[in-house]
Amino acid sequence: MSKKVKKEEGQISIHTENIFPIIKKWLYSDKDIFLRELVSNAVDAIHKLQNVNLLEGLQLSDEYQVTIHIDKDAGTLSVSDNGIGMTADEVRKYINQVAFSSAEDFVEKFKDLEDKNQIIGHFGLGFYSSFMVAETVEIRTLSYQKEAQGVHWICEGTTSYSIEEISKDQRGTEVILHLNDDEKEFLDPVKVRELIKKYCNFLPVSICLEGEEVNDKNPLWTKASTEISEDEYKEFYRKLYPMSDDPLFWIHLNIDYPFNLKGILYFPRLTNEFDVSRSHINLFCNQVFVSDSTPELIPEFLTPLQGALDAPDLPLNVSRSYLQNEPQVRKIREVISGRVAAKIVDLAKKDPDAFVPIWEDIHSFVKYGMMREDKFYDKVKDQVIYRSTGEKRYTTLPDYLERGKEQHENKVYYANDEGAQATYLRLFKSQDLEALILDAMIDNHFIQFLESKNKDLKFERVDSDITENLLEHDASKKIVTGEDNQTKEEKIEKIFKDHLDIKGLHIRVETLKDESVPGMILLNEQQRRFKEMTRMMGQGKEMPDLFADHTLMVNTASPAIAKVLALVDDNNSETANMLIDQIYDLAMLSHQAISKERMAGFMERSGKLLGMI
Ligand code: ADP
Repeated sequence: MSKKVKKEEGQISIHTENIFPIIKKWLYSDKDIFLRELVSNAVDAIHKLQNVNLLEGLQLSDEYQVTIHIDKDAGTLSVSDNGIGMTADEVRKYINQVAFSSAEDFVEKFKDLEDKNQIIGHFGLGFYSSFMVAETVEIRTLSYQKEAQGVHWICEGTTSYSIEEISKDQRGTEVILHLNDDEKEFLDPVKVRELIKKYCNFLPVSICLEGEEVNDKNPLWTKASTEISEDEYKEFYRKLYPMSDDPLFWIHLNIDYPFNLKGILYFPRLTNEFDVSRSHINLFCNQVFVSDSTPELIPEFLTPLQGALDAPDLPLNVSRSYLQNEPQVRKIREVISGRVAAKIVDLAKKDPDAFVPIWEDIHSFVKYGMMREDKFYDKVKDQVIYRSTGEKRYTTLPDYLERGKEQHENKVYYANDEGAQATYLRLFKSQDLEALILDAMIDNHFIQFLESKNKDLKFERVDSDITENLLEHDASKKIVTGEDNQTKEEKIEKIFKDHLDIKGLHIRVETLKDESVPGMILLNEQQRRFKEMTRMMGQGKEMPDLFADHTLMVNTASPAIAKVLALVDDNNSETANMLIDQIYDLAMLSHQAISKERMAGFMERSGKLLGMI
């Protein structure tokens, strides 16, 4: 029971001589949080009373509530609760000693930090954060205990306080801030409401401002997922991110062991491949908003995730680097990555058709995640799907390989630019060969990664070589002349080589099953990849030319090539050369790789050729 006090004045026993200027100076940028601290204390006081009520059977049936009151004339903002209250002794102990020493600890810790933002949400300052905005702070409180006496405490921004008895009828505590002249913005109900919405929006006790309840006491993550409809999930998402499109999917976490973690994480619809800037997860601690910038809680590759996480056991007043290595935080990251993987598997299995558009949106992140994290790779690897030129628009890799087993075992043909590689894709299609479309930015790396994971697997871009499957093997290699024993192929090769005197160009003569293509450019897969990689890394330096080494594949089955031969036999080498140039330029053109110099010649020649028809 508290001692009766008439009026008492005293010195707060602290070591840091003047704590107030320090508090003000260091925390200035984040001074809004005082409201969160006071409201959280009020909610705690109500929880304490609810516990005592249970234990001691007080049979209270109050409507618990925190009230925020603004008095413009008096220049005060007050936070009242009908919680447990404090006796005079408790005020001495908790406010004069505990609160001050924890504020002192906090300031000590804070002083040594290089990066002041390292302390997430600045937890731990508590009651004394009021002095960031008010010179004078009063407490009026009445303990729940029988025959308790009301207490009035006042401190005017120095280390001295005074405490006296008052008459107070209503149980609970009222903290009154006499706002400094330059903090009058906190007298604006719109501003205060906005702050409550930011920090206290999901607190479990009613918070009233101007007679109106401002918060949502039962945020969705506190409910069981089985009781929540799809629309409710979407609505909650809109509440958190008002201007966003519907999310693609979400996971609801409700973990009690080995740590407490609740929350709903949403995978947003992303507008471009790495649109991560807007993402942020709101972190709560027992429904009190802590921060919207805690990247260490989720695996780096899942940065686009949005939503709310409530992690009551986290040591939030520690530095970021500490948090990064804290085993519990690591565990949280693992849990989240595991749950996202499980969700992806679930979506893919449940409705493969509905999964396709989702996959289009998320595949870059999934692929990136697979490359970053082995466990994630193992969990989702069978669900990765690829756009295909085959009958089914999408396929898994094992299915693709199985279908092509006879023709190209362990080999994946792919295109990364359907326009530039259209000719090749058409050839593939005409021979019933299937290719995958891997045209995202990340696919280059992903291909490399898949090859390193599966030693036998080889990816080849459709234009990297001519597969056996496209070649006509029955074409008998007829000897053209008896004199020099030259085959048709050798003759064509020589004609092309003699005329096309281009650095790094090789000529290869083949007979394709398809006669519509006179010539195509082939780029060796490994060489091309190496150059692409050098290009990506060597920003600013001279770019390696992808076509420094290239092969013109000449198709003897094409009537255009027959024409070249006929013209040469007729000694009309001028027209034959025009055709050869045209065949080469067209092949380069499809790669958008024709040089400026050759472009002019190509245009002129095209005009002439048109006139000859
Ligand atoms: P913390 O809340 O982290 O313990 P504070 O400095 O905010 O630190 O508060 C110190 C103590 O003062 C609290 O632990 C509590 O015992 C007491 N206290 C603060 N506000 C209230 C309140 N509204 N009702 C009852 N007790 C309070």
